[in-house]
Amino acid sequence: MKKTYVTLLLCMFSLFLSAQSVNFEQFFLDEGSLRMDVFQCGNSDGSHYVFERFVIEPYFGGSKVNLIDPFNYGTNRVKVIDAQTNTLIYSRGYNTLFREWQTTDEARVMERCYEESVSIPLPRNEVYVILEIRNFDGEFEEVFSKLYEPDEMFNTTEQRYVFPVQDIMVNGAPDSKVDIVILPEGYTAEEMPQFIQHCQNLANVFAQAEPFASHINEFNFRAVLAPSEESGVDIPASHIWKRTILNSHFYTFYIDRYCTTRNYFSVKDVAANAPYDQIYILVNSSQYGGGGFYNFYSMSTAGNMSSSSVIVHEFGHAFAGLADEYEEPDNPLALLYNLDVEPWEPNITTLVDFESKWADLVSPGTPIPTPNTNQYNNVVGAFEGGGYLSQGMYRPQRNCMMRDYAPFCAVCYRTLENMIEAHSDHPVSVKTDYVLPEPSLRVCPNPATDFIDVFVNQEGGQAEIIDINGKTVMTVQLDSEVNRVVVSELPNGVYVIRVNGETKKFVKQ
Ligand SMILES: [Zn+2]
Ligand SMILES: [Zn+2]
Repeated sequence: MKKTYVTLLLCMFSLFLSAQSVNFEQFFLDEGSLRMDVFQCGNSDGSHYVFERFVIEPYFGGSKVNLIDPFNYGTNRVKVIDAQTNTLIYSRGYNTLFREWQTTDEARVMERCYEESVSIPLPRNEVYVILEIRNFDGEFEEVFSKLYEPDEMFNTTEQRYVFPVQDIMVNGAPDSKVDIVILPEGYTAEEMPQFIQHCQNLANVFAQAEPFASHINEFNFRAVLAPSEESGVDIPASHIWKRTILNSHFYTFYIDRYCTTRNYFSVKDVAANAPYDQIYILVNSSQYGGGGFYNFYSMSTAGNMSSSSVIVHEFGHAFAGLADEYEEPDNPLALLYNLDVEPWEPNITTLVDFESKWADLVSPGTPIPTPNTNQYNNVVGAFEGGGYLSQGMYRPQRNCMMRDYAPFCAVCYRTLENMIEAHSDHPVSVKTDYVLPEPSLRVCPNPATDFIDVFVNQEGGQAEIIDINGKTVMTVQLDSEVNRVVVSELPNGVYVIRVNGETKKFVKQ
């Protein structure tokens, strides 16, 4: 028993080490990034992905050292598997607007498709780009995979939008810094000087807000000078509709202050003019509002009295996956949380597994849960109320930027500093027990048309392909870790592949 445990630990340790030390030169070209555009379609019950295209873009802004995501954040995740060697060579968690839409009343009565797009460093060889969605129990499930072939003629290098880029504050090479590309929304060509001024204001906000202020030399800010035809932004409740480059609007999900865009391909097209880790959209409006999605984009209005707080708050979502720490039970996003498991967000807890969160920051003698009284001002504990819920969800301190625009609490502060470090050119030493669990059986692409590649951890064995009626329609001998199986003769439909008792579902279309 004990021996098994030690062996298991060693396995996990080696997996962790190998995951951390992917050699950039071996797997990637230093010539830009690969972007995969997909549509995510569905309703509140579920969704599926539809492939749109691969785009090769001129810049990659990310770290070349920390290629495997050291954090287990996000409702979604992209993984890249080298097709030759079955090696995980890149991963990133992220959030989407679609996932939030799935909690709305509208998603219960109709389907919608949302644009989604993931960017990875440009692979040298064939890779599978895999998309995963976190289920309600908090675990990632593979839902889509697509083979990227470098010599495929429809991999486009066409840049849809080419605009000048203005450096706002540049402190070093993109692979060693947090690169923020700022996009203008609703600024006309005549208003570009005003936009540049607003970008300088934004950089100054970061230079004055901790923990960014202490690390401001780790940030680059660049602005893409992309004009809109009309000035302003859509305000549906006031019947105001403006022709703008990113087509943003207030009243997302009928929430007045919630300003977002569904035109994510346009966002990516404009952002492609500069290297970036984070996209910040500045909206030319004096109305209070914004939105932020982890590794997707931040958006806030430029001309409101509260703008500097909104700018930092939304970036907390987009940069570090921080949850809202306030209570708003009517907000449909409250439905995202399952009180029987720990939420993935670093700054809220259900107390199901508090040790995995910020228990190490709590002083001895502080009661958990912590009474919400003045005695515990500025104390780290677990205060009930957070993640829109007033019961069953706990936050680290009484006040925080993610709750009431106070300075970031100690937990958010630490998370942000860890995230800044992960964008640097040295390997991260983040406090984490998290190890990427890799499945021992994988089937790509999914959906499939001509063939599937069956990835197994050890050579040998048989694969059975079983149709929806439970009938075995194909048996294949597996000779290596990667086995290409022709499935073009199979009728279209859902199949299960079984290898050594393990099963995976795939769609033939
Ligand atoms: Zn928020
Ligand atoms: Zn906080």
